Amino acid sequence: MIRTDTFLSTKLYKCWTAKTIFMVGGAAATKFIVVTGGVLSGLGKGVAAASIGNLVAAGGNKVIAIKCDGYLNVDPGTMNPVEHGEVFVLDDGGEVDMDFGHYERFLGITCSRDWNLTMGKVFETIRTKERRGDFLGKTVQLIPHVSDEIRNHFHHVATTEQADVVLIEVGGTVGDLENELYIEACRALGKEVGEENILYVHLTYVPIPAGVSEQKSKPTQQSVAQLRERGIEPHIIIGRCSEYLTPAIREKISTFCGVAKEAVITGLDVSYVYELPLIFAKEGMIDLLQDELGVHAKLRPNWIELVQSLQSPKQEVTIALCGKYTALEDSYASIVEALHHCRANLHTNITLSFIDTTDITSCADAQNLLKGVDGVIVPGGFGARGVEGKIHVVRCCRENNIPFLGICYGLQLAVIEFARNVCGLKNASSTEFNEQTPDPVVDILPEQKQIVNKGGTMRLGAYAADLQKGSLVRQLYGGKPKASERHRHRYEVNPAYHEILQKNGLVFSGLSPDGTLVEFIELPNHPYFVGTQAHPELKSKLEEPAPLFYGLIKACLETSSS
Ligand code: GLN
Repeated sequence: MIRTDTFLSTKLYKCWTAKTIFMVGGAAATKFIVVTGGVLSGLGKGVAAASIGNLVAAGGNKVIAIKCDGYLNVDPGTMNPVEHGEVFVLDDGGEVDMDFGHYERFLGITCSRDWNLTMGKVFETIRTKERRGDFLGKTVQLIPHVSDEIRNHFHHVATTEQADVVLIEVGGTVGDLENELYIEACRALGKEVGEENILYVHLTYVPIPAGVSEQKSKPTQQSVAQLRERGIEPHIIIGRCSEYLTPAIREKISTFCGVAKEAVITGLDVSYVYELPLIFAKEGMIDLLQDELGVHAKLRPNWIELVQSLQSPKQEVTIALCGKYTALEDSYASIVEALHHCRANLHTNITLSFIDTTDITSCADAQNLLKGVDGVIVPGGFGARGVEGKIHVVRCCRENNIPFLGICYGLQLAVIEFARNVCGLKNASSTEFNEQTPDPVVDILPEQKQIVNKGGTMRLGAYAADLQKGSLVRQLYGGKPKASERHRHRYEVNPAYHEILQKNGLVFSGLSPDGTLVEFIELPNHPYFVGTQAHPELKSKLEEPAPLFYGLIKACLETSSS
C-alpha cells in the first residue's frame, strides 16, 4: 500500500513473500480489484473498472468482472430503460447491468449472468437457504450471513472461471444504504485474502467551481472518509475531472486521503470512453498495478490506433435513431457504442440524431424529420407508443432508398410496413399492440403463450441463424453460413405469412436452424434495407464492429457520395 514510504515497503515486502510462497506452492492466488465510487453517481465507475480490466487483460491475465447492484429486482430486465439505462443481454440469456457492455467491449470477454449480483438475487438465495434449514439454530443476520453470502459468491465465480484477476465493481456511491453489505463484503474479502492480493480503487469527483477556477479536493476527502469509516483504505484514487489533476491537488488528496501522490490518477472527461485506458496508462496505472498488486498490465495492441482514428474522422454521415426512449441516451447505449466502433474503423464522423416517433403521424412527417439524414436505425422497443410513427419512418426509408437498419422491434415493424404497403394487407399488425388485427404478421412466439411471469422469460440470449447464400447479410457476416447473435423478444414474424411476404419480394436472409423463425431480412434493389430479430449491437467491439452496423454506415457513405 503506497500511503507512506513505510507502508510501501511493508506492502512490497508482503507481495514479495507472497510470491515466493506461491512459487513454492505452484499456483498463484487470485487477485481482486475492488472499484467503489463516491460523491456522485454517473461518474463512469463501470468505464473506469473496464479500463483497468482492459490493461490487466492485455497483460495476459484471465480477468472476470463482477458487478454488485443494490436494488431488490432480481435483474434489470423488468426496469424501464429510461430509468435504468439499457438492459444488456449476455450469450447465456442473462439480463444484466449495462456495465457488462463495457466489460465485454473493453476486456474482449464473454460474461456470464452469475457475475451480476443484485440484492434481489442475494436475498432470494438467503431466503431459500434459510427455508432449507442451512442456518438451523441461528438468527440469520445482514452481517455476517448476507455479507458472507456475497463474499462467497466472489470466490465461487473466481474459482469456477479460474480467474487470475477478479474485478469487483460496487454500484452506487459509498454511503448508499443499499450497497453497505457489498462494501462490508469487500472489506472482509481484503482481510481474508491478504493485502497483497487486493487493490481498492476509489473513483471520486474533482470539481472546478465556476468563479473559483481551481480543482477542489473536499468532496474526495469526504468520500474517502466515508470509505475509511467502513474499514476500507483505498490504494488508488481516481479523480474524475474536466482537466488533468494538478500537482497541488494530487499532493492534497495524497495527504488527506492517505495514498501516495503517484496513486492519485486523473479520470479525465473524454469524448470517447475508449480513450480512458490510454489516459490511465499515461497516469501511471500500469506501474501501480504491477507494484501494488503484482499484476502485469499493458495497453492492447491496436487500441491506440483505433482511438486515434475515433478522434480524427475523415468523412461524415448523419444517422437518425428513431425510437421512444430517446430521453436518455443510455437506453440505447450499445447502439451508440456500435456506431463508435464503425466510426473508428471507417474513419467516419457519425452524427446521431435522436428522433422520438411518438408524434409522427404520416409519411410526410417522417420525410420532414429525415431531411439531411443519411441513414436510419429503428431500434428495439416494446408496446404501442410511437409504433405507427416508426412504421411511417420505415416506409419513408423503403420508398426513398434511405439506408435502413431495423433491430428487433425494428425488423417486426419493417415486416408490418411491407405487409401493409407492398403485400396489400392494409390492416396488418402485431398482436403486441393490436390484438384484433385480421393479419397478425407479427405474433407472440408459441412458447411464450403460457408464460405469466414477466422477469427473465423472453426469448433471451445467443441463437444461431442459417444465412441465405448470396444474401447481403451473409456477405456482411464474411460469407459465413451461420451467424450467432443475442436476442430479447416475445414476438416473431408469424410463419403463416412467410409465403406471402417472400412472394412479394421480402428476402429472409437468415432463419433459425429449424426454418421457423425469421432472424434476418433484406430488400433487394435498395441501397441497404436490412432487419434483424436479434440485437447485434450487443456483441460489437472497437476492434470488430457489428457487421450490420458496419454495412449500414458503408451504405450511407456510398449513397451520400453517389
Ligand atoms: N416488443 C418486441 C418483442 O417482444 C420486440 C422486442 C425488442 O425490440 N427487444 O418481440
